[in-house]
Amino acid sequence: MQGKHGGFSASVNAMYDKAVGLMDLSPGLIEKIRVCNATYTVRFGVRLRGEIHTFTGYRSVHSEHMEPVKGGIRFAMAVDQDEVEALASLMTYKCALVETPFGGSKGGLCVDPRQWEPHEMEQITRRFAYELIKRDLINPAQNVPAPDMGTGEREMAWIADQYKRMKTTDINGNACVTGKPANAGGIAGRVEATGRGVQYALREFFRHPEDKAAAGLDGTLDGKRVIVQGLGNVGFHAASFLEREDGCKVTGIIERDGGIYNPDGLEVDMVHLHIREHGGVKGFPGATFDADGSKLLEAECDILIPAALEGVIHPGNADRVKAPLIIEAANGPITSDANDMLQKRGVIIIPDLYANAGGVTVSYFEWVKNLSHIRFGRMQRRAEESRHQVLVDELERLSKNKEVPWTLSDDFKRNYLRGAGELELVRSGLDDTMRAAYGAMREVWHHREEVPDLRTAGFIVAISRIAASYQAKGL
Ligand code: GLU
Repeated sequence: MQGKHGGFSASVNAMYDKAVGLMDLSPGLIEKIRVCNATYTVRFGVRLRGEIHTFTGYRSVHSEHMEPVKGGIRFAMAVDQDEVEALASLMTYKCALVETPFGGSKGGLCVDPRQWEPHEMEQITRRFAYELIKRDLINPAQNVPAPDMGTGEREMAWIADQYKRMKTTDINGNACVTGKPANAGGIAGRVEATGRGVQYALREFFRHPEDKAAAGLDGTLDGKRVIVQGLGNVGFHAASFLEREDGCKVTGIIERDGGIYNPDGLEVDMVHLHIREHGGVKGFPGATFDADGSKLLEAECDILIPAALEGVIHPGNADRVKAPLIIEAANGPITSDANDMLQKRGVIIIPDLYANAGGVTVSYFEWVKNLSHIRFGRMQRRAEESRHQVLVDELERLSKNKEVPWTLSDDFKRNYLRGAGELELVRSGLDDTMRAAYGAMREVWHHREEVPDLRTAGFIVAISRIAASYQAKGL
């Protein structure tokens, strides 16, 4: 694992340095963009089970070149300042690459959510939120958290409610956090968004023959063998969509308790159910199990999807990884040194700052929805349907005058007449975002010979945009 003491930030910064080395920026601006602006640490007590328990939490703001700043809140025992700062910096580059108008931030709380009852988690979350809200580290105009590892819709609903209790007259209170449930100001498609984004990223990659060829792959996603690490929210959705909608064969799944493998493919939804019932993948029927799941990172496959923790591919195992294509659904799963080793061997990496940006992209849509106080599609949907109906009626009228009248199939009419609802609009906006960002990245990758890989290209695109916004401010 990437070191807990300085390792993760150092790794992101090494990637950053590689990119700025190929850019023409002043040393002062390079330093300004690299550094983390501020990290707030809070220790607070909560009375639980008759005793006061002290928790440590962080909210890090990496860059305020645009505000609000954005990034998830992670609940895990391994959270520390270095991790939160590294993750905040990745948020800055990610937001710039996919053009969501935010600076980068991240939060974390050292807590194991499995050790506490839901009502206890609510107390802990509300108290942490209280500490951040009173310092404007949660605020619709300044800092907007979202889910990350160990948090989800439930925690976001508590945070939004806590904010509204404290700022009763803020009409934009719902926009203080994203990833809320549908009935509490959320948006359709946010839960699946990061996994959906991974799917759209892969589809886009497979649209470019030269890019596939660089990874030694051809054809479509259909039949490609996929190994995924982590069947949490991101890994589960990505794997399940790729299996059900693109025909991929998910041959390996790695979880906390080990890895399972079946060369004929595992049914992702069934494995997911098994994990919920049994707490792990062990015992899943028809698959071989190995308690050392990390070995599966080194198994034969076409696409490897690390969707769990940072630093899982490191100099100790990078040379044994056989996948020709890795897509980083997690943040920072490949250390900077391992990245260089893989790149030397011609392994193509679709980097985290692009690959997992689906979450923040749909968070952006949710924030806009909250600020506009109206659901997407509410005004247009039926108008769109009526205009389509006019066309269908006219075509049918014209067909009646023909000697051999033709008809429009019911299927066509159903699909064509349906106006887009919120979920379709969200998916369309996400797809467009993923295609545009990939285009910007591959343009730099292919057209500048000195740019070795997609990651460096992604960093260059992101850093140029951040630099432009600093320069516009006269810095
Ligand atoms: N935690 C997610 C990430 O790492 C989502 C952030 C957000 O939606 O603001 O990108």
